[in-house]
Amino acid sequence: MLKDYHTHTFRCQHAVGDVSAYATVAVQRGLKVLGVTDHNPFPDNRWNKIRMQFEELDDYEQAIALARQTYPQLTILKGMECDYDKDLLPFYRDELLGKRDYNYLIAGVHFFPLHGKWIGAHSYIKTPEELVAYTDYLIEAMDSGVFTFIAHPDLFGSAYPSWDEHTIACSRRIIEAAVQLQIPLEINACGFRKKPKEFPQGTRPPYPLLPFWELAADYKGLTVVVNSDAHQPEDVGATAQAMALVEKYGLNLADLSYLEDTSLSSLA
Ligand SMILES: [Zn+2]
Ligand SMILES: [Zn+2]
Repeated sequence: MLKDYHTHTFRCQHAVGDVSAYATVAVQRGLKVLGVTDHNPFPDNRWNKIRMQFEELDDYEQAIALARQTYPQLTILKGMECDYDKDLLPFYRDELLGKRDYNYLIAGVHFFPLHGKWIGAHSYIKTPEELVAYTDYLIEAMDSGVFTFIAHPDLFGSAYPSWDEHTIACSRRIIEAAVQLQIPLEINACGFRKKPKEFPQGTRPPYPLLPFWELAADYKGLTVVVNSDAHQPEDVGATAQAMALVEKYGLNLADLSYLEDTSLSSLA
């Protein structure tokens, strides 16, 4: 049964459609679970061109409540894709998971600090030093205990030009931390829908990074989740290429069905 734990809404300003439109497609495609996980707002409205504004939080939650009423046959989980920052952990834990009753949060490291500056993970991981800083920060996010899984851990492949000793070392650190902390890593199908990029070793999607997942196959204790990361309703459940990697490398799918129990108790 198809489940999709990572989708967006128009509120993040780089996606289209509201929760109900995503739910409509989910029902059409026979999904059992739709996780709505738009990019988190920051209480200080930081990086606010690519995420919802703090003032939109109530409206986002109402859109989820409305879709739950419209589609009782679909389990709609209330989530958020959160940019990690340790100063925001109390907001994520106490307010989102606590007071506002979110079912789960995903960590996405789209920015990480280096030498007092924030670096964008999509475009600016070009050197081993930046790669290590990204890896350190991603592992810190995993270790926070607030997140259910880690979105696109191999995002560094979007800019880092080659698969080399540095990517192997950092990938091993990420995968080993995931095993140790028992936190699933996401194979993110959205990267397959993006324009392929040219690198010295050939043209490929920015992510998922195939050698990363091939390496992951060495770790029997690792679990993975496969999601669409849909930024438009028609991409809900569109995970075939990413799912093929699970088959190809013999990876273990994580069982997140425990999240569904909580959603039933929080139906408004
Ligand atoms: Zn996004
Ligand atoms: Zn996303």
